[in-house]
Amino acid sequence: MHKIADGIETRLDELAEYESRDTGKPLSLAKTVDIPRAVTNFRFFADLVLEHETEEILDGQGSVNRIIRQPLGIVGCISPWNLPLYLFTWKIAPAIAAGNCVIGKPSELTPYTAFKLGEICQEAELPDGVLNIVQGTGMNTGSAIVAHPKIKAVSFTGGTKTGEAISREAAPQFKKLSLELGGKNPNIIFADCDFTSMLETTIRSSFSNQGEICLCGSRIFVEESIYDTFRNAFIKRTQSLNVGDPNDEKTDMGALISKGHLEKVTGYIDLAKEEGGTILIGGENADVNGRCNDGYFFEPTVIDGLNADCRTNQEEIFGPVVSLIPFSSEDEVIAMANSTQYGLSATIWTENTTKADRVAGKLDSGVVWVNCWMVRDLRTPFGGMKNSGVGREGSLEALDFFTEQKNICRIQ
Ligand code: NAD
Repeated sequence: MHKIADGIETRLDELAEYESRDTGKPLSLAKTVDIPRAVTNFRFFADLVLEHETEEILDGQGSVNRIIRQPLGIVGCISPWNLPLYLFTWKIAPAIAAGNCVIGKPSELTPYTAFKLGEICQEAELPDGVLNIVQGTGMNTGSAIVAHPKIKAVSFTGGTKTGEAISREAAPQFKKLSLELGGKNPNIIFADCDFTSMLETTIRSSFSNQGEICLCGSRIFVEESIYDTFRNAFIKRTQSLNVGDPNDEKTDMGALISKGHLEKVTGYIDLAKEEGGTILIGGENADVNGRCNDGYFFEPTVIDGLNADCRTNQEEIFGPVVSLIPFSSEDEVIAMANSTQYGLSATIWTENTTKADRVAGKLDSGVVWVNCWMVRDLRTPFGGMKNSGVGREGSLEALDFFTEQKNICRIQ
């Protein structure tokens, strides 16, 4: 596994270029986030599996229970288009570390780095058959993986609707399922926050990867007393973002993944207007000249004037679109933050640690960041509550998922 990580690391620049071309994301982002995190995924699980010890329970009256973990056999790993190699390896690395063979399917929209991973695994002399990368659409290839009786578990990341379809298909065979699904994450900004640090991170948590990260904070709740100050500063900072050619180092935001997705995002702007929202900035396709003339670029967009319960603020847009909502009390913001079907992640900005802990404890979110965003320690469990998912990835949870426990009881 370390040899695979070495192979990815050696080809970092090349893989970043493929990732940027497939997705439209800035090359700089693929170089600094996507591909390095794919390397870390392999290294982390390579080391973690060595720390795993067999548990033994002695009852003091002669019986010894030895709890071993065995690989499941063949497992399916299905991943989305937004962080292609990063999320693909996030599943494959623990599955292989735990001793399984993998049938892995990347998104049909972003197939290339998965194909290259196959080559890297061959160069690293991973035995044939341990990792099998199949390309194809969800309806054909994806559902064939889920339905196949020899595949004992499916680890899936993607949309909530697809997660539902997979659950229906897998349930009669009692397969193990790990589902990482959609989000509509709250970003809660209290007046007593470190404003400068909050503003910079909020720009990233709103528009990184064109807002196409399941962890982006698309609903920004701002305490009333600083609402106007925040709104003005946020608009000013948003104005300075460069939407442009992904290869250009000055580019902050590249293109959206597809024409269909661009239309979906545009549709939500129309909906926001119908619902009475005001587009403070953005809301249009962005013009990028030169070789990217026909690309699917969209301006970073900020909306206000909408209630927390309208569709724009309840449904996942998954683009560079955020909505600002004022609040006056902790209870009010917690109720609004928890009001969607989702529960993936949340961010809280305050210098008051007691308040941060109190609010974090009441949020229906699998991950809560306080005064930061997207900081990841791979030893921590990752996943969503409610319709954002079932199960947790990362840490020992991932090794748990990809193994079956067996208790062997012996009388001494
Ligand atoms: P998607 O659900 O359309 O597709 C994801 C993967 O599932 C693709 O490989 C696709 O081919 C496959 N697929 C589609 N239908 C299938 C079926 N019936 N059976 C088996 N496989 C099928 O999602 P997407 O549009 O690629 O990704 C965007 C979504 O992913 C967003 O909702 C986003 O929030 C979510 N996401 C979640 C996380 C997380 O960690 N929770 C991370 C990234 C993305």
